Amino acid sequence: MTNNLQATTTLYNGVKMPWIGLGVFKVEEGPELVNAVKFAIKHGYRSIDTAAIYGNEEGVGQAIREAMTEYGIKREELFITSKVWNADLGYKSTIEAYETSLRKLGLDYLDLYLIHWPVEDKYVEAWRALETIYKEGKVKAIGVSNFQVHHLEQIMKDAEIRPMVNQVEYHPRLTQQEVKIFCDNNGIQFEAWSPLMQGQLFDNPLLKEIANKYNKTVAMVILRWDIQNGVVTIPKSTKELRIIENSTIFDFELTKEDMEQINNLNQNHRVGPNPDNIDF
Ligand code: NAD
Repeated sequence: MTNNLQATTTLYNGVKMPWIGLGVFKVEEGPELVNAVKFAIKHGYRSIDTAAIYGNEEGVGQAIREAMTEYGIKREELFITSKVWNADLGYKSTIEAYETSLRKLGLDYLDLYLIHWPVEDKYVEAWRALETIYKEGKVKAIGVSNFQVHHLEQIMKDAEIRPMVNQVEYHPRLTQQEVKIFCDNNGIQFEAWSPLMQGQLFDNPLLKEIANKYNKTVAMVILRWDIQNGVVTIPKSTKELRIIENSTIFDFELTKEDMEQINNLNQNHRVGPNPDNIDF
């Protein structure tokens, strides 16, 4: 399935999405951000995940432009994701939020635009806006984030277009089987945020043992586990060596037994908010 960093999964509408991307949550505007995005593209990443609420779309855009010029990469080779924030959910306000993200990024289209959180009473209307943006050809793919099965069912009830992607918290302590199976059965690509559990898994004895067996790091084992489970992954780092490390996962394969042992680490443990209980 995947043998190099630019390997892609094909969304149900035919758009190709890289299995691995760089996440830039909590990286503020400035040289650290610009350098992180440029390191990633220089070392072969093609996908960058940002969001309006991260407050760094301008720096991400600057880094993309510089990387394209310096490394001779074309816009079509990149896969750029952003997300509409909760305060902008609504038909008109979501369309305006999309235009604002484009302007800040300095791009004329995004590859993927997501509803960031399923705010009750708002996300259905926002989905209608994403459908409009998509039908007008202004975005390559549309999707959601943090959607549980009942949110997806609600959207799909009368939507013309079903989400192409659902980006949720996913790591060995939170394997989200119910929503993952629903997405797999409905052709909705599953994508992991906080794949490294924000650094909380590096001392896990089982993951360390598996990592030693392959002469890899725990981060590499977790990210490889994502991909072998058919999950797109977007680890965050601003450090060049870690950015390289997190992408060196296409030259080994976990066994079925390794995969099962890692799956069994699940404790339904979240590091982020529960989508059914959000107050922001
Ligand atoms: P993560 O699980 O990617 O962990 C990042 C942490 O791990 C950082 O502290 C980093 O320094 C450390 N790290 C990264 N690579 C390492 C390595 N090889 N060795 C040792 N330490 C390493 O956490 P995250 O940033 O929360 O999630 C990744 C991305 O997911 C975000 O940047 C963002 O793009 C996205 N995200 C989306 C949502 C959402 O609601 N849709 C929420 C949170 C995050």
